[in-house]
Amino acid sequence: MSLIYLNGEFKPIEEASVNVMDRGFIFGDGVYEVIPVFNRKIFRFDEHIKRLETSLAKIYMNNPLSKNDWHSIFDKLIDCTQELDQSIYLQVTRGISERDHDVSIAGKPTIFVMSRPIRKNDFFSGIKAITHDDIRWQYCDIKAITLLPSVILRNKAKEMDAREAILIRDGFVTEGAASNIFIHINNKIFTPPKTSHVLSGITRDLLVEILLENKISLLEEPISENMLFNANEIWITSSTWEIVPIVKLNDKLIGSGKPGLIWKEVNNLYQEFKGTYCN
Ligand code: PMP
Repeated sequence: MSLIYLNGEFKPIEEASVNVMDRGFIFGDGVYEVIPVFNRKIFRFDEHIKRLETSLAKIYMNNPLSKNDWHSIFDKLIDCTQELDQSIYLQVTRGISERDHDVSIAGKPTIFVMSRPIRKNDFFSGIKAITHDDIRWQYCDIKAITLLPSVILRNKAKEMDAREAILIRDGFVTEGAASNIFIHINNKIFTPPKTSHVLSGITRDLLVEILLENKISLLEEPISENMLFNANEIWITSSTWEIVPIVKLNDKLIGSGKPGLIWKEVNNLYQEFKGTYCN
């Protein structure tokens, strides 16, 4: 039977509940991670825990569990499901307190973890995206559970028959609503540098590493809106979507309107790397 983890206990999701005074519920006062499992193996565990600790530190919290504790929770959740590919969702909130912004009055953090199958998709044949003003806050490097802007943005994309919104702040591309971005233009690959307006994506960082190892040059430089529309390839990255080509942006076809050759090469390298860790 599939179980979830909540504050030290494993139980069926129907039996799990959280106090209404939890600051996650009242303030959205918490952070999260999404960790992929391929072929039943946790992928980039250390990197995800490190990013969790960075997010927690930025909201004045410590990691409530050791790395070993996190690993054994994940292992147990994976063990009680059948699927080869899963996505582990973990959320840490500041716990229960009076409704007061003061963080020092909070008690124990609330820790919730679940694992869900990664839904198979046909994204590798390319998806449509829209562009939109980056309506989010200034601390996008924190993986905060307060995701209302991203919910609105993904919905706006859906209204236009698209899967992702590519965000523009002051004329420059930041990232997708739930993904990082790479473009290929004038024989060069670009991805925006990591700033507080961009989440430090684990897949992004891995791709940067893979490109470097394979001596494929990459520029971590700002991408203007103009460059975005003139790119001959655009890809987005995330832990569960992996590397997905964007073949249509608003009403414009990108390249030939099909996944590009550079994407194919880079995606093969990524899949090869993944295969060596999750075989
Ligand atoms: N940016 C944002 C805003 C995201 O929500 C995500 C997905 N969690 C990403 C980038 C991609 O990050 P990762 O590769 O770690 O999944």
